[in-house]
Amino acid sequence: MSNHVLEVMNLKKVYGIHTSNEFEALHDINFICDQGEFICIMGPSGSGKSTFINNISTIDNPTSGKVYIQGTEIRTMSSNEIGKFRYENLGFIFQDFNLLDSHTIYENIAMPLSLKKIKPSIINEKIQKLAKNMNIETLLKKYPHECSGGQRQRAAICRALVNDPKIIIADEPTGNLDSVNSNELLKTLQQLNQENGVTIIMVSHDPLIASYSSRLIYIKDGRIEQTLERKDLTQEKYFQHIVEINAAESKEALHQ
Ligand code: ADP
Repeated sequence: MSNHVLEVMNLKKVYGIHTSNEFEALHDINFICDQGEFICIMGPSGSGKSTFINNISTIDNPTSGKVYIQGTEIRTMSSNEIGKFRYENLGFIFQDFNLLDSHTIYENIAMPLSLKKIKPSIINEKIQKLAKNMNIETLLKKYPHECSGGQRQRAAICRALVNDPKIIIADEPTGNLDSVNSNELLKTLQQLNQENGVTIIMVSHDPLIASYSSRLIYIKDGRIEQTLERKDLTQEKYFQHIVEINAAESKEALHQ
């Protein structure tokens, strides 16, 4: 059986199709991600990173091309199947949290489990453990608007992890965290990746955060411009290469 968790063939995304604002944000992207990879997507602002993430994770539909997740082409699934597939397989961590203000932090974290028949005592045990790891165990009865940005982000991370996803999709996951909490999140992701074999696909603009990945994908102007594998490099050497790639790209932009 194929080890590919994700396969993208000739992915193209056009916004505002048939309008005067038509814009091709992704051009013919081909990409394969294997089980257990930790991929970081980098690139300048507006290069197509979020569009890419949205189109490979059932959030948006490509204009053309194919996206297979665990061997199933997303476009062939009904919306019910996609919903079920999401809560069984995917965990999302986004910068803008997407927490429901009418629900407590506890209820928000429990949400991905609501479609599964799981005993409340088991749900409670899971949530208490995750909340403790993320240092929000005292906030579970509060509402999102009563929490700080960092606390809401950590609650969103707990929600992403509560269904033991096989793939974590993270768009700038540390965007609203201070350096201590960023580090904690990165260590949690690394642990999930290395010990539980969870596949991670993360967008970040920060070379330090990217240096936790096993492969870097650099997107520019809607195309994969280059890739870099960590292989047996130390994290420090890998970090240096990532910094160099970013510096070279910035230099090129300066001369344009
Ligand atoms: P990044 O995440 O790298 O900053 P995005 O994927 O958000 O880039 O955007 C890529 C390009 O597509 C940008 O030029 C952006 O303005 C455009 N874009 C993104 N979303 C939309 C949309 N909903 N409608 C029209 N254009 C969009």
